[in-house]
Amino acid sequence: MSCDFGLLAAEGVRALSPYQPGKPVEELERELGLDHIVKLASNENPLRPSQAVLSACRESLSQICRYPDSNGFGLKNALANKLSVKAGQLVLGCGSNDVLDLIARVFLTPGTSAVYSQHAFIVYSISIQAVGARAIVTPAKNWGHDLKAMAKAIVEDTRVVFIANPNNPTGTSFRLSEFVEFMRKVPENVLVVLDEAYYEYAADEYHPDGVALLSEYPNLIVTRTFSKAYGLAALRVGYAVAAANVADLINRVRAPFNTNSFALSAAEAVLSDQDYLDRSRQLNNDGMVQLTAGMEKLGLDYIPSSGNFLTVKFEREAIEIYQELLHKGVIVRPIGIYEMPRHLRISIGLTEENDKFLTALKSIL
Ligand code: PMP
Repeated sequence: MSCDFGLLAAEGVRALSPYQPGKPVEELERELGLDHIVKLASNENPLRPSQAVLSACRESLSQICRYPDSNGFGLKNALANKLSVKAGQLVLGCGSNDVLDLIARVFLTPGTSAVYSQHAFIVYSISIQAVGARAIVTPAKNWGHDLKAMAKAIVEDTRVVFIANPNNPTGTSFRLSEFVEFMRKVPENVLVVLDEAYYEYAADEYHPDGVALLSEYPNLIVTRTFSKAYGLAALRVGYAVAAANVADLINRVRAPFNTNSFALSAAEAVLSDQDYLDRSRQLNNDGMVQLTAGMEKLGLDYIPSSGNFLTVKFEREAIEIYQELLHKGVIVRPIGIYEMPRHLRISIGLTEENDKFLTALKSIL
C-alpha cells in the first residue's frame, strides 16, 4: 500500500507548482533532431566568459576535494569594496533566487502576508506560498509595478514587499523619485525586497541604485546576481545587501557552503573585469535596438524593456508562435503563467542569434 506523502507535505507546498525554466537546447535537440539551435529563453548573457573568469575556475578545479569558504571572505570583501558597504551587510546565495527564498523563510510564516505585483517575477509567489504566508497581489499598471497601489496594499500582518526593478518578464522599471515616494509610505517594520537582478543593464541617473539607498532605509533589502550582466548563470551566485542586523538574520538560515568554489572565485574575478561588463552592456544595447527595430518592421507591439530581454505581443495565442519557433530551432519563453498568454519573452542574444529569431518569426507571421 502506498502512502499519500502529499498529506505530510507542508500545506503551502501541497498546492505549489514548480518553477518552469526555459527549455534547454539539448532537450530540443533530442525532441526534434535539430542542430544549430538558438536559445533566447532564460535571460542569460550571450557573451562567453572572460579569460579572468576561466582562469579563476581553472584554479579552483584542483581544489574540488575541499569545501568552499563558507563565509565567502574574498567575494564578500570585493563586493563590500565595490558597493561601499560592510561585509557584514552581505548574504551570499546559490543565485539570487536562493536569497529570495531565504528572505521568505526568515520573515514570513503562516498568518503573515507579503505584497507583490501582478506579472512580477514568479519566484516571489513560490517562496511566499512555500512558507504558508498569504500573497497580496496588486494589479499592474502599464505592465509594470504600481508602487502607489503596492504601498496601499500593505496591511497589519504584512512583513515583506517584493519588487523587481527592472521586472521580469515585463522589462518595466520605475524611477528613483517614484521609489523614494513609495519607501516614505512603507511602515518601518515592513521589509522591502528590491530585486535588482537586471540592475547593471538599467543603471542610469534616474534609475534607483538600491544599495545607495540602504543607509536611509533600514527596512530595505537589495538583491543582485552574477547570472545576468556578469555572465555566470551556470555557477549560481547572487547576493543580498541589507542593514547588518537584517543580513545577520538571513545568514542564520543560509545552508553552509551554498555558494561553491567556482562561483566564489569567478564572481570575484568578474567583479573587477570592467571591460566584460562594458561589453555585456554594449551587446545588450545593440541587440535591443536590433530586436525593437525588427518588431517595428513586423508591426508587433512590445513592452519597452530595461532588461536583457524584450516582451512582445501577438495577435493570437503566443504558445502557438512559441511552438512554431521551436520547429525552426529558436527557443523563446511563453509567459502564459504570468497572465500574459499573448506575449512571448525573447532574451537578447548575439547579433546572429537575434537575426535567426527575426527571420524565423517573419516566416511564421
Ligand atoms: N530576479 C529576477 C527578476 C530574475 O529574473 C531572476 C532570474 N530569472 C532572478 C531574480 C534569479 O536569478 P539568479 O538565481 O540566477 O540570480
